[in-house]
Amino acid sequence: MNKFFKFIINKRFILLSIFGTTLYLLISYFQISLWYILGAGIVSGLIFGKVFCRWICPVGLVMEILMSLNPNGKVKQMYQYHKLGCPIAWVSGLLNRYSLFRIKINTTNCLNCGLCDKQCYISTLEPAKFSLYKIDLANPGDSYTCSKCLKCVEVCPNGSLTFKT
Ligand code: SF4
Ligand code: SF4
Repeated sequence: MNKFFKFIINKRFILLSIFGTTLYLLISYFQISLWYILGAGIVSGLIFGKVFCRWICPVGLVMEILMSLNPNGKVKQMYQYHKLGCPIAWVSGLLNRYSLFRIKINTTNCLNCGLCDKQCYISTLEPAKFSLYKIDLANPGDSYTCSKCLKCVEVCPNGSLTFKT
């Protein structure tokens, strides 16, 4: 199960491409109301936190493609702005700390290797405030900004970091 879960995380961009394109086609051809999309974002937020942006959203897909073409440029900032302007990101970001599934650490097994923090854009940007394994710092997985890329869980060498209920 753990290996399968890591496989899914590793294929996140492919899944985002499939879900994002499908959602775009559904919205375009069937003119699905954006209220339904917001509803889906809230339900997924309650269960998984802010998964919509990096696993499902068509705009998120476009932004990731642009970011991959220009990894250190202004596109990254644009993406943050886009998320600031999106009600699904607002709501599901706030739900990160209350969702059913959360990023959790087993401190007994943790090797203190720090690989999780190195993968996380939140801990990398604010290392004095956020850490996935330093228990005196805030868990970035609970913060508004975490988009559940789950890279931190993927790199953990011994399964100390998990995404579970
Ligand atoms: S899922 Fe993990 S690596 Fe990704 S942003 Fe959230 S805490 Fe950081
Ligand atoms: S990657 Fe895993 S073992 Fe290493 S510090 Fe993070 S939680 Fe601990």
